[in-house]
Amino acid sequence: MKFISYIYQGKPDYGILNQNSQIVPLATILSSLNYDVPPDLLAFIIEYGRTINLEINSVLYHFADQAISLTEVKLLSPIRYPRRNVFCVGKNYQDHALEVTEFTNEGSIQLPTYPIYFSKACDVLLGDQEIIEIRQPSARKLDYEVELAVIIAKDGKDIDLNATEQYIFGYAVSNDISARDLQTTRGQWFKGKSLDNSLALGPYLVSAEEIAFPPQLNISAKVNGELRQKSNTANFIFDLVTLISDLSQGMTLRAGDIILTGTPAGVGVAMKPPQYLKSGDLIEFEIENIGKLTNSVKIVD
Ligand code: MG
Repeated sequence: MKFISYIYQGKPDYGILNQNSQIVPLATILSSLNYDVPPDLLAFIIEYGRTINLEINSVLYHFADQAISLTEVKLLSPIRYPRRNVFCVGKNYQDHALEVTEFTNEGSIQLPTYPIYFSKACDVLLGDQEIIEIRQPSARKLDYEVELAVIIAKDGKDIDLNATEQYIFGYAVSNDISARDLQTTRGQWFKGKSLDNSLALGPYLVSAEEIAFPPQLNISAKVNGELRQKSNTANFIFDLVTLISDLSQGMTLRAGDIILTGTPAGVGVAMKPPQYLKSGDLIEFEIENIGKLTNSVKIVD
C-alpha cells in the first residue's frame, strides 16, 4: 500500500492511494474497522506499525466512492515532523565513496569498514512538488543526494540479523540536501546537513510488504532533465540487514524513525567543474517501485 499525507480542503490528513490512484482517508477505513484514528501518519505508525496493514488492504476496495482525487490535494511529506533526528548513512555506495575521496582530497581511497552514521535535524520535511527554499548565505554550495529512505515499523534494540525486515514499515524516495561548504569547513557534517528545508521525502511511503527484501531497486537523479545519478540499491556497501541490525546494537530504534541509506555517485560537488544547485533548478528523483519525488529549488537572501 501507498501511505500518503496531504492537505485537503485546508486541513492536513493522511490516507492510502487505492488502485485507481485516488486517496482513501485512513480515518474512514479505521473508523469502519472500529480502530482509534491517530492524528497523523507518524502517530499511525507508532500505534499500529504493520499489524493492521493486511486488514486495511482487504477492505480498501469498499471505499472507492469516498476516494479523493490527487488533483484536489496538496501533497505533504508522509512524515512531516520526525519524532527525532533523521538517521543517515555516509558513503554507502562504492562509486560515491570514490568520488568523495577525490573532492575532499583524502588521498588514498577509503571504503568504510563499518557503516558511517550521522543525523539530520531538519524540522519540517518537504513533500513531493514542495519548493526546496534555502536561505543565503548558508547555501553557497548546495547539493542534492538521492537516497532510499527506510521507515521503522516498531521499537527495537539489538535487532537480530534475521529479524530486520519485520522492523521496516516502508520505503520512500528522499533528497539529502547538503551544504558542501558547511560540510567541509566545520569538521563534521551535522550543520551542513541540517539547514531548514534540507530534506524532501515522498511522494508516499510504500509498505514493506510490497517490496522484495532486501530491496534491489534502480535509483536515479535528474537535475533540469540531465541524468546525474544512476545506480541500484543492490550496490549498497552495507545492506539493510546490516544497517538496521548494526544501528540498533545497544541503541533503541523507535517506530517512525527514518533512515537514509546513502547516495550513489553523481552529486554536484564531484562534477568537473562542480555544479551546485541554484534557484529554478528542477530535481527529479526516482526509485523503482517506490515512486518519483520532484522538487524545485529556490535560494533566497
Ligand atoms: Mg546522504
